[in-house]
Amino acid sequence: MPIFAHPEFDAHELVAFAGDRESGLKAIIAIHNTNRGPALGGCRMWPYATEAEALTDVLRLSRGMTYKSALADLPLGGGKAVIIGDPHTDKSEALFLAMGRFVDGLAGRYITAEDVGISVDDVEVMARATKHVAGTRAAGAGDPSPSTAYGVLMGIRAAVAHKLGRNSLDGVRVAVQGVGHVGYHLCRVLAEAGARLTVADIDDAALARAKAEFHAQPVAPEAIYGVEGEVFAPCALGAVINDDTLVQLKAPIVAGAANNQLAAPRHGVELMRRGVLYAPDYVINAGGVINISHEGPAYDKQAAFNHVARIHDTLREIFSRAETGGVPTSEAADRLAEERFKKLPEAA
Ligand code: NAD
Repeated sequence: MPIFAHPEFDAHELVAFAGDRESGLKAIIAIHNTNRGPALGGCRMWPYATEAEALTDVLRLSRGMTYKSALADLPLGGGKAVIIGDPHTDKSEALFLAMGRFVDGLAGRYITAEDVGISVDDVEVMARATKHVAGTRAAGAGDPSPSTAYGVLMGIRAAVAHKLGRNSLDGVRVAVQGVGHVGYHLCRVLAEAGARLTVADIDDAALARAKAEFHAQPVAPEAIYGVEGEVFAPCALGAVINDDTLVQLKAPIVAGAANNQLAAPRHGVELMRRGVLYAPDYVINAGGVINISHEGPAYDKQAAFNHVARIHDTLREIFSRAETGGVPTSEAADRLAEERFKKLPEAA
């Protein structure tokens, strides 16, 4: 298994492997870049079929966190951890204490948090072995979904202003795919702003709640892509912009919370070719991580939400750069992030 020649290796500052015989821990921490500050990124627990798959994931995800933190204007770098194991059967107190010691050994260069397969309870166990954790109950920032939804609202405002020249969401038609944690809060703030909502979810109770509370029009899951309107807001799954769905899209804007919305980079190019404005997912969905970065004894919700609101201006800059350069917004976002985290030679 190559490391330096690995396709996802991008001059990562550190890749560390840990094994603990007693608890059965097998974990990898990757620190991509700390030019802006310590590397923050969640810890994922997943039954990877091979160690190579776990390495690929941690290299890719840690790099993504560097870009996300830079565009969210956080004094943080990018890192990620993966635990190889089944979150349903392999969790134990000893495992998370061992993981906490592993994190602690990096002396604050990496800060861990929850991610897929890892709950707040698991992070709390790690916190007994290291202070380099975020997202615990004691830290105070709480559920990230309202702040994520607020960031998505700001992103939708930016996209509607750029694409349609409208400064209000009054009467703007938004199709929300997935009304779970983020989608629900997004519907709430959109309804308050006067938007007209169409919603889809595979969970009937979630759908009924959105219908009752926000007068949202429910449609079948497969019908959401073709809804007539101004904005398609994916808030459920990844890879929803793909060869099958692209041809169905009627909205001139794609702006939502879901991670990894483009099935492949070429779908970003195709959206541009079709005149659809895409708000890059890792920029528009950063509200939760911005909110977490403000946590601590002096947590000030207003200050945190003011920071989240800056997603609007970052996206406006990305949209203008993409237009001027004739490149997809996803590419313009990456270039702006690199300007923000790569040290200039004279500053190095
Ligand atoms: P969630 O699980 O609470 O909600 C997802 C909803 O999507 C659920 O109600 C689910 O039933 C629905 N869904 C699943 N498959 C569907 C389908 N085929 N069609 C329609 N609906 C479907 O998750 P969440 O926390 O709201 O996160 C939503 C997305 O946003 C995820 O991609 C997540 O990675 C991303 N995200 C979340 C946060 C956060 O703060 N929670 C932050 C950044 C990014």
